[in-house]
Amino acid sequence: MSLHFSPLLSSSSGNASLISNGQTSILVDAGATGSILEKMLRDVGQNAANLAGILITHEHVDHIKGVGVLSRKYNLPIYANSATWEQMQPKIGEIALHNIRIIEKTEFFIRNFCILPIPLCHDAADPVGYSIMSGNRKISILTDTGKISEKMLDAAAGSTIVLLEANHDLEMLKNGKYPYHLKNRILSSKGHLSNIKAGAAAVELYQRGVRGIVLGHISSQNNIKQLAYHTVLTQCEQAGIIIGKDMALTTANRKSITGTFQLK
Ligand SMILES: [Zn+2]
Ligand SMILES: [Zn+2]
Repeated sequence: MSLHFSPLLSSSSGNASLISNGQTSILVDAGATGSILEKMLRDVGQNAANLAGILITHEHVDHIKGVGVLSRKYNLPIYANSATWEQMQPKIGEIALHNIRIIEKTEFFIRNFCILPIPLCHDAADPVGYSIMSGNRKISILTDTGKISEKMLDAAAGSTIVLLEANHDLEMLKNGKYPYHLKNRILSSKGHLSNIKAGAAAVELYQRGVRGIVLGHISSQNNIKQLAYHTVLTQCEQAGIIIGKDMALTTANRKSITGTFQLK
């Protein structure tokens, strides 16, 4: 059974990814209006009505903007941990009781997907990434984290693809226009991942069997796609990993569909 991964948008203005194995389709985050997400799903050949559910990583608006609308319109279950629900619920409108699914720290199933939440380091109530497994294929999403720990790396081990945050270039952020407190927030271990840290994580992930990395949540103010790509590429090459041969590396689009990665 093949697994399809479509990053729909990935930035501080909106995040959503579709994962489908032909029988079951789920959305991870819904950080755009309902109508934008409906259109994006149509553009990748999916219908929002056919989703088996929406997984939420954390309650920041760039991850939850359209989740309430989609859940009400299509009767879709929303999966999040209890601390995230507590913060998210007042922001997304009324959700039918049967669509409030509270997840724990352990693996759970949505039809034939096995899903593992991965605790992250970010200034939200209880942020998580996810590993999503179908058959012997696995996709992991690790964005919105100020650091990458051994535990996170181990949880993502063996993924065919990891959506990995490469939020900012350190020099661009330091010299950029953001106010001091915001720079500090982004730079902290509960902020966002720099290109350099993403590069180190990419090497570690390769050593744990990961064979494809999509760099995401790339800042429009403090980063440039090519710079993120080259920083990570350079670190991989310095570790003896040949990009394009040993491991695939690409970047996600901020506000448009990146494409569909097909994992056979
Ligand atoms: Zn975010
Ligand atoms: Zn966030």
